Amino acid sequence: MLTLHEPGWCEQCGKRLPDLRHWRRIFCDRKCLNDYFNGLTAKARAEERARLKCVVCGEPITGAKRSHQKYCSERCRQKRRRTCT
Ligand SMILES: [Zn+2]
Ligand SMILES: [Zn+2]
Repeated sequence: MLTLHEPGWCEQCGKRLPDLRHWRRIFCDRKCLNDYFNGLTAKARAEERARLKCVVCGEPITGAKRSHQKYCSERCRQKRRRTCT
């Protein structure tokens, strides 16, 4: 069996892992594993949104709810609508 016998800590919560464990085990439980990978994808999505710029005023869009959001605010969205029609 591929096991380690050395100190280790959970990658997610930092809790001490059992000294004797499977070599691939880096989380204390399944919940930490899920949290860790959810965190990674959430971070990637947040970074993608951070690059968005408002098509009306050119300001970075903060707190975008969708990755294809085009306007920084409701005001810009309405402004764009008015100039277009
Ligand atoms: Zn943990
Ligand atoms: Zn704007």
